[in-house]
Amino acid sequence: MVAYVVHTKMMASGDHEVHVEGCEWCPPDEQLCKVGEFDSSEQAFEAAKKMYPEANGCHLCLPEHYDLS
Ligand SMILES: [Zn+2]
Repeated sequence: MVAYVVHTKMMASGDHEVHVEGCEWCPPDEQLCKVGEFDSSEQAFEAAKKMYPEANGCHLCLPEHYDLS
């Protein structure tokens, strides 16, 4: 299982970035909300989307869920 977190602050792009916990691009702890622990990034991303519909993957740790648009 891998722990995932979501940035509680919206980025300038309008996204809430989702990270694997401990990613070097993670914002400070006070700007993070735990998504939970999941077996796959797909499950984590689904859960993050329920918290923030604008969730977008981090380009570094979740490139498969990173959407530039
Ligand atoms: Zn990341």
